[in-house]
Amino acid sequence: MASAAVSWFGDEMNAVPLRNNKTSAAAVRSVTVLGATGSIGDSTMDLLRAAPGRYTVEALTANGNVEALAKLAREFGARFAAVADASKLSALREALAGTGIETGAGEGAIIEAAQRPADWVMAAVSGAAGLKPALAAADRGASIALANKECLVCAGDFFMQRAAKAGACILPADSEHNALFQALASGNRDELVRVIITASGGPFRTWKAADIEKATLAQALKHPNWSMGQKITIDSASMMNKGLEVIEASYLFALSPDEIDVLVHPQSIVHGMVEFSDYSVMAQLGTPDMRTPIAHCLGWPDRIKGRAAPLDLAKIGQLTFEAPDYVRFPGLKLAYDALRAGNGATTVYNAANEIAVAAFIGEKIRFGAIAQLVEATLNGWIRAGNLAPLTGADDAIAVDHDARKMAMTLLPQIALKAS
Ligand code: NDP
Repeated sequence: MASAAVSWFGDEMNAVPLRNNKTSAAAVRSVTVLGATGSIGDSTMDLLRAAPGRYTVEALTANGNVEALAKLAREFGARFAAVADASKLSALREALAGTGIETGAGEGAIIEAAQRPADWVMAAVSGAAGLKPALAAADRGASIALANKECLVCAGDFFMQRAAKAGACILPADSEHNALFQALASGNRDELVRVIITASGGPFRTWKAADIEKATLAQALKHPNWSMGQKITIDSASMMNKGLEVIEASYLFALSPDEIDVLVHPQSIVHGMVEFSDYSVMAQLGTPDMRTPIAHCLGWPDRIKGRAAPLDLAKIGQLTFEAPDYVRFPGLKLAYDALRAGNGATTVYNAANEIAVAAFIGEKIRFGAIAQLVEATLNGWIRAGNLAPLTGADDAIAVDHDARKMAMTLLPQIALKAS
């Protein structure tokens, strides 16, 4: 295995290894996939399937999709399979009867999966439920491909500190952060001017504010480039996803909000760029397919064969860029506000957004009200004097819980205003 924490920030240890010391990974790597039945899980399993003999599977987990989990566990000969839904244990046991694969159920079993001795862990559980398992993997100093946004958005400071302390290696799996991860290796911290995260602009990039306000669910789900789950697709349409990514980048790479810019790039070919003091800008490009950043994490510090279509720039012809519009997409500006406020404000931003998106899917609020609810919750939280440093996972989960409650309380007012 590659060495864990590498110092890029002077004396400060950082869990993201921003210098590739080229120590090759073990010939055969054991891996665990948390959230194996999801979209990121599927891309990860596809890469594992394409490299037989190079990886062994220690553990696979899901929430309640027993059928898909059991199928994967059998196919890959996993040692352990676990579902978060405790009521599904007997179904899982039945589905894996006679295979010798150990089974578990409940939150504790997902954490156990993360604790088992895999070299590499894909953290792709969706939502705040992904935090404790990712921390469990970090605490034993594993290499973690981090897809779950909530670990950083809800608990970024202490998640990164704990990972660095344990010697864990955090490999950014989100495409934009993976691009920055690759580009940052070209320089030192004191040579960095800013990082630039690109955004497709989503389906409403060219729409007027009044039309965005009343966009339907079907319209919000029509992402021009990426095929992703429902929640993240809606977040892309509102640009809340880009807001979450700005927050992620700040915690992952220890950057101030002023060092992170967003650039709209409708083709989604350039995923992230880093500008250095000599004004050289290093960029990572690729077809929009999550299997490319996941392959980079899976192979790191080496490179493995990818599964996405190779990039054909001549065929694409043109790459275009625009400044983001913070007026039509107020959720993006709110992310910067939350990041500057710190002290749990980004946890509140995420929690309120989750409530708002669920309300939009349930047709309780209009699309434009998503950002309004997030803003009202953030303001209410700050006015109530609730901002305070987060001390641990339980604290972050408590803030998440209380912020959701506040957002639920504010929801009827927002729904009324927007109707
Ligand atoms: P999906 O909804 O497709 O999959 C989520 C996975 O987590 C499934 O395996 C699901 O199991 C499992 N899961 C859900 N709830 C729980 C729970 N409470 N406890 C344990 N396991 C649970 O999500 P994605 O794969 O799209 O995303 C995963 C994470 O990666 C998210 O944080 C997302 O923001 C992030 N991400 C996703 C990208 C993408 O392209 N999809 C890009 C970048 C980041 P089951 O199938 O049984 O429900």
